[in-house]
Amino acid sequence: MTSSAFDIAILGAGPVGRVLALMLARVAPDPARIALLAGNAPVPAAPAAAVPATDPRVLAMNHGSRVLLESLHAWPDRSADIRNIHVSQRGRLGRTLIQNTDFGVPQLGSVVAYSGLHAKLDERVAACGVTVLAGPPAQIGRQDADGVRVLQGEAELLCQVAVQSDGAGAADVRRDYGQHAVLTTAHATLPRRGWAWERFTAEGPLALLPHPQTPDAYSVVWCSAPGRAAELAALDNAAFSQALSAAFGDRLGRLSSQAPRHVFPLALSARRAQVHGRVAAIGNAAQTLHPVAGQGLNLGLRDAARLAQTLGGWLAHPGANPASALTEFARARHVDRALTAGLTDLMPRVFSTGLAPVEHACGLALLALDLASPLRAPLAQHLLQGFRA
Ligand SMILES: Cc1cc2nc3c(=O)[nH]c(=O)nc-3n(C[C@H](O)[C@H](O)[C@H](O)COP(=O)(O)OP(=O)(O)OC[C@H]3O[C@@H](n4cnc5c(N)ncnc54)[C@H](O)[C@@H]3O)c2cc1C
Repeated sequence: MTSSAFDIAILGAGPVGRVLALMLARVAPDPARIALLAGNAPVPAAPAAAVPATDPRVLAMNHGSRVLLESLHAWPDRSADIRNIHVSQRGRLGRTLIQNTDFGVPQLGSVVAYSGLHAKLDERVAACGVTVLAGPPAQIGRQDADGVRVLQGEAELLCQVAVQSDGAGAADVRRDYGQHAVLTTAHATLPRRGWAWERFTAEGPLALLPHPQTPDAYSVVWCSAPGRAAELAALDNAAFSQALSAAFGDRLGRLSSQAPRHVFPLALSARRAQVHGRVAAIGNAAQTLHPVAGQGLNLGLRDAARLAQTLGGWLAHPGANPASALTEFARARHVDRALTAGLTDLMPRVFSTGLAPVEHACGLALLALDLASPLRAPLAQHLLQGFRA
């Protein structure tokens, strides 16, 4: 077994781990004392994330995330802006429209490909001076007064702080929504540039986002019961296009899809405590959310930004105990995590009860939100930028 020492080890080089590495590299007196452990073997808990070059996910990034990524020169080369978000319910009254002009911002958000973001972050991390260690999946070992041991195959790292950003942490809170998401791309006969659509159906939410790499195409995220998702995934292109058009309605004309379909299981899993001793969890390792409001990565990036800010001061004296910095981090992140996880947990459940009065009330609530902008503003503001302690 080989052994080496680092101030901070980051376990998992997804977007959240990489952003943390970039931010820490800016404030660390010696960035090489930060280790980013990039597992190069497929990880069973996160099969799609293990192959980012082919990961089919597209991600809606809010204004705050874009500003953060741009400040790190890590914004992907290709993205699609969202200026209007249309939220509606199939078969019910009411819809709400959220527009960039309401908030005086150039766009409400932008859509990027997971693979494109990964490639850009990879490029930036390679140049930032942190030590990147590729190898088998890493594990947290023993903690004591000397530090925390991190194991990667035959190598043992003694670190002062370890950060889990491996996308799949232990879950104290878990909810299985009984839903899977079908992901694909569709073309519309009447495309509307800059528009994103979120439609709540009895089966689950259906989102159409402007495609980051193909102008006038839409990325489809269609959530439904696992059996139905499997059926949808197995349909031929014509039958799938017909089913999609029927579920979405005719706002974009006819929808047609010739692209491969991918199925993702959906669940909420979250740790109650983000910090245990010298170990902090961020991003999906701390909380994996339903993708209904496109908040998972946005929330994870806020975790990373806050942790980098909190550890920045400590890194000037890495011999000092990091406990108070980590406690401060957990305290600062508590409200934003609870609010975002609570909101994204509530939406798919409330909008797919199958009970007409409840759904009707939801439709009216959406209508009321659209009419009463003071009511709508806090929701959209939170989705745009999240809570900043
Ligand atoms: C269908 C779908 C749509 C989504 N849409 C949106 C959206 O529109 N907006 C949004 O903000 N979020 C969205 N999300 C959520 C978003 O994808 C995640 O929140 C985000 O990818 C989390 O990033 P992460 O770096 O924490 O974890 P991951 O992206 O899972 O990355 C973790 C990395 O760690 C590696 N790893 C795992 N175990 C180990 C180990 N033991 N050692 C070393 N490395 C390890 C993995 O291989 C992976 O590379 C969506 C998710 C899904 C499923």
